[in-house]
Amino acid sequence: MTRALQHNESFCFAPALPVTGDALSNRIRLLMKLRTSGINDTRVLSAMENTPRELFVEEAFREHAYDDTALPIASGQTISQPSIVAWMSWALDVHPRMRVLEIGTGSGYQAAILARMCRRLYTIERHRDLLAQAEERFRTLKLHNIVTKRGDGSKGWKEAAPYERIIVTAAATEVPKALLDQLAPGGIMVIPIGASVADQSLFRIRKQEDGTITSETLMNVRFVPLVSE
Ligand code: SAH
Repeated sequence: MTRALQHNESFCFAPALPVTGDALSNRIRLLMKLRTSGINDTRVLSAMENTPRELFVEEAFREHAYDDTALPIASGQTISQPSIVAWMSWALDVHPRMRVLEIGTGSGYQAAILARMCRRLYTIERHRDLLAQAEERFRTLKLHNIVTKRGDGSKGWKEAAPYERIIVTAAATEVPKALLDQLAPGGIMVIPIGASVADQSLFRIRKQEDGTITSETLMNVRFVPLVSE
């Protein structure tokens, strides 16, 4: 895929919360790794720098919070791999005045990253317990621009539509029509599509000002399925 957009050699590490030396140095190590792999979008890197991933993982996996792997969370779901979070955030090309819709809150990690890059982040999760835990984390991090809803995200969130950006963090078999309808003209949607876990690709879909839809594939990915109710 195309490599990242911007160069900025001087970004500093300022933790948003008091953290242990270990967690902080592991976070710095992960950010260095992401930069080396080609992610040099400073909006994404500074959002990740300010978001303690250890807060979003289960106690038992805390020492692996800064490994570049997906980890299990409640209800048989997963928190995405940090490099995938970074690439998806980059691909979405979020700007500070935008309203962004996320489908699949999960742990809330991806939502927390995007919330630092946009004006308002709407996120939908079908599992009530996961949503409650994510909401608690948003409060802890004082991310007051996140609005949550329990429900079937494949139907979108009509009341607040349209959205300049939509991100889906569970794999669909096709792009849900409601989400395309709720994407603003000029908008971008990033969504994993695939018939099975072993055969998924990340798509970036653009809605032109005249309503024409174009799409491109970015990379192979592995996501839990988008379950419609
Ligand atoms: N963005 C998450 C990763 C979530 S994994 C993070 O950063 O941790 C995918 C999530 O999508 C799961 O929590 C799953 O319960 C949720 N999900 C699956 N189908 C859904 C649907 N139709 N509507 C809303 N959420 C859904």
